[in-house]
Amino acid sequence: MLLSQQVGGRVSALTRLYQEMASCRQCELAKYRNRVVPGEGAEDAEIVFIGEAPGWHEDQQGRPFVGSAGQFLEELLASIGLKREEVYICNVIKCKPPQNRDPLPIEIRACQPWLDRQLELIHPKLVVTLGRYSLARFFPGETISKAHGKARKEGDVVYYAMYHPAAALHQQSLRQTIQADMLKIPSLLAQAEEIPETEEKPQQLSMF
Ligand code: URA
Repeated sequence: MLLSQQVGGRVSALTRLYQEMASCRQCELAKYRNRVVPGEGAEDAEIVFIGEAPGWHEDQQGRPFVGSAGQFLEELLASIGLKREEVYICNVIKCKPPQNRDPLPIEIRACQPWLDRQLELIHPKLVVTLGRYSLARFFPGETISKAHGKARKEGDVVYYAMYHPAAALHQQSLRQTIQADMLKIPSLLAQAEEIPETEEKPQQLSMF
């Protein structure tokens, strides 16, 4: 079901969360944004993709991944038989940083409760981190070059690290790596329940 829809005639909890987000002024980014970009997709999605921060196009439309990185993400999803409406897509930061600079730690901390609440409400089986900033949130201390293509499980949720799709637009050599990492998702999802909880560090799962 799409997030903007109502459930049984009532506004869904996620839609109410978006309404709260729209007036967020927890950090300085509120001054510069055109629109808050909460996220979008299926309320009951099994997979949530988490990118970095909205760019110009996202800020204009209030929707995540609608620029060139989004086009590539849609291609990647199609390679595993999925459409963007069938998953949930959001970012660590919900507002565009000025001049597309990297998000600051203070902004990431201010935005964290929104992401936490989204994940609580959706309760996906699989969270896919796209790029360094969402990696840092779920794979602390890891570097993207080592962690990509690896998964860890905490509670009943599997976390899986990938490069950000925009990385392939800047560095052509990463394109195949990103495509290969995406192709592992269906088997990861199918086996999510059997995967044991990870003790500490993200592991290369035996199936890969
Ligand atoms: N990059 C991101 O991380 N998120 C978007 O929404 C667009 C580009």
